[in-house]
Amino acid sequence: MSFIQIVLKPGKEQSILRRHPWVFSGAIKGMTGIPKNGDVVAVHDSSGKWLGLGHYAEGSISVRIFEFEKAELSPSIWKDKIAAAFSARKSLGFTDNAQTNIYRLVHAEGDGMPGLIIDVYNKTAVIQTHSAGMSSVRNELVSALQEVLGDRITSVYDKSAEKLSKNSGVASENTYLLGKKEDDVCLENGCKFRIDWEEGQKTGFFIDQRENRNLLGALSKGKKVLNTFCYTGGFSVYALKNGASLVHSLDSSQKALDLTEENIRLNDLDSSKHGLIKADAVEYMKNLKEDYDIIVLDPPAFAKHLSARHKAVQGYKRINSAAISQIKKGGIIFTFSCSQAVDKQLFTNTIISSAIETGRNIRILHQLHQPADHPINIYHPEGEYLKGLVLAVD
Ligand code: SAH
Repeated sequence: MSFIQIVLKPGKEQSILRRHPWVFSGAIKGMTGIPKNGDVVAVHDSSGKWLGLGHYAEGSISVRIFEFEKAELSPSIWKDKIAAAFSARKSLGFTDNAQTNIYRLVHAEGDGMPGLIIDVYNKTAVIQTHSAGMSSVRNELVSALQEVLGDRITSVYDKSAEKLSKNSGVASENTYLLGKKEDDVCLENGCKFRIDWEEGQKTGFFIDQRENRNLLGALSKGKKVLNTFCYTGGFSVYALKNGASLVHSLDSSQKALDLTEENIRLNDLDSSKHGLIKADAVEYMKNLKEDYDIIVLDPPAFAKHLSARHKAVQGYKRINSAAISQIKKGGIIFTFSCSQAVDKQLFTNTIISSAIETGRNIRILHQLHQPADHPINIYHPEGEYLKGLVLAVD
């Protein structure tokens, strides 16, 4: 099969030769035809040398390369890639694990599959395609999942509609591509969570906080904890399970608070030690009514784009200053940013400037990040998005 060729301007092959998978529209000198959104195209340098195969898209990222090795499209490419991703998770202990059956199987560029996320929730795999190209191979992905994971999964849910229409203007429906709705109570480090992959945010759960929730649990015994932006109450469940004396879970969404309450119940935790607060976190943080020992700040991505970065930084600064200035002496703050546009250095600098504002003595105890099932392709540093600091405030 021959593909439309995308020819790059001189010099624009450098990042591709380093295996960065994105071709920006401004890097293109010409094309041998007019590709449709989602078509497989061949990328060549200005002298005609083949560089890779990728999915074409309308927008600023014109091609996302998924094949750097051979100019032919292997019929088993998706199966091979899913098998490689599965094998990596298996060797890390994420599969066939009696304590945790929630993990990310495919993390887009981090697994050589730009535009694709696959999360596993016990017997269900939830697919989220972000590009027309990945959406067009979704049935191949389902077959690959069946072949590679076997009876470990019995259903596959496609949750791409929102992302696809926003990112690539493709209309799609959220639907089961295999099987039907399965048991939605899943396990993470022995904690039970009801996962709403049909209606919930992202694919239903913030899997990326698994290790950070565990760390919070380890510090929670006998402590009063405020978990802001709680969503499913992940941090709250770990805190109560590990003996926190009081946990307040705060979110602006009633649906999130209902989910949190249900997850507390599912784990047979003492609900008299738990309180729900429906509020805007920024407002609530201005004047805390409780003497908390631990505060978790895990806001949604304040900056979705570079253009919103300045405003995002102001947002992080405000809530962090509020937490740092009011937390009890000896208290601990878990503070996060999942904005890809705010990198680790900018995030750390923002927290430093919040600290300076308060004048308190603060030590950084831990620098947190996304876990190993959310790997970062070393040639695609944009894949690093979750940053966190654990601060001890004297
Ligand atoms: N910490 C969570 C994930 C947080 S997701 C976990 O471990 O799973 C972000 C949450 O912030 C969402 O539930 C959203 O409803 C909530 N949110 C967004 N803006 C908010 C605001 N201004 N005040 C309070 N909650 C907010």
